Amino acid sequence: MIRIAIANQKGGVGKTTSAINLATAFAAAGWRTLLIDLDPQGNASTGVGVMTADREYSTYDLLMGEGTVEECTVGTNVPGLSLIPATVDLSGAEIELVSVEDRVHRLRDALVRANDTFDVCFIDCPPSLGLLTLNALSAADTLMVPLQSEFFALEGLSQLLQTVERVQQRFNPDLGIIGIALTMCDKRNRLTEQVSDDVRSCLGKLVFDTTIPRNVRLSEAPSHGLPALIYDQHCTGSRAYLALARELIARLPENRKAA
Ligand code: ADP
Ligand code: MG
Repeated sequence: MIRIAIANQKGGVGKTTSAINLATAFAAAGWRTLLIDLDPQGNASTGVGVMTADREYSTYDLLMGEGTVEECTVGTNVPGLSLIPATVDLSGAEIELVSVEDRVHRLRDALVRANDTFDVCFIDCPPSLGLLTLNALSAADTLMVPLQSEFFALEGLSQLLQTVERVQQRFNPDLGIIGIALTMCDKRNRLTEQVSDDVRSCLGKLVFDTTIPRNVRLSEAPSHGLPALIYDQHCTGSRAYLALARELIARLPENRKAA
């Protein structure tokens, strides 16, 4: 199983939207796909149609050792996509884990057992660099960063990259960065273009060629419990996420899909 964390400590940059739609694209391509909702807000869970009442076990139980991957996994509205949902309990995990031994490796250790069950898992991180995100980065093979095309896009990125370095040094030497995706791009806005140029000249090949446009379908879809890729597969947002998924697959260290 390839483990891809989607992280950025800024909120509202498109982490959850990217996690949901990339996971859907992989599932549609036949990958056995697991989505892990690591944000107490639970937007990724709602976005694939798993309502609060259906979240008996959650990522909280997984991290606290109160449930196995198998017990915590539920089906979704997306064929081929499984989910470990988040509940509000998770907001307490950050504090409760502080006193737990090996607190940074809880997720990694829990996922070992899922290695042969899934081909890929996407971990949707909360908007912070706290213990939850550290667990994701310690468990992940690689990191994908959504970056909102706005004036302050690069601000905060250095802090994220420093955290990655720290994780590489202390917890997970093999952690890679698969790429940075520019999100919420507005083609008619000259600022977007300038931000995009700046980011590319600063970060070079790390930035995916595909950019995600600002598209109202992407923001409507979650209220229907569906990824945009299913809600309206032809909208510009869906097409962009399909293209991004293709780029992501091409960048994976090995084309490791089983079968
Ligand atoms: P994060 O997980 O980083 O907080 P989200 O993916 O939840 O960000 O996105 C924040 C808000 O913006 C959500 O309401 C989402 O539906 C909306 N959104 C995300 N990406 C786009 C986009 N490309 N175009 C329009 N709306 C978007
Ligand atoms: Mg989110």
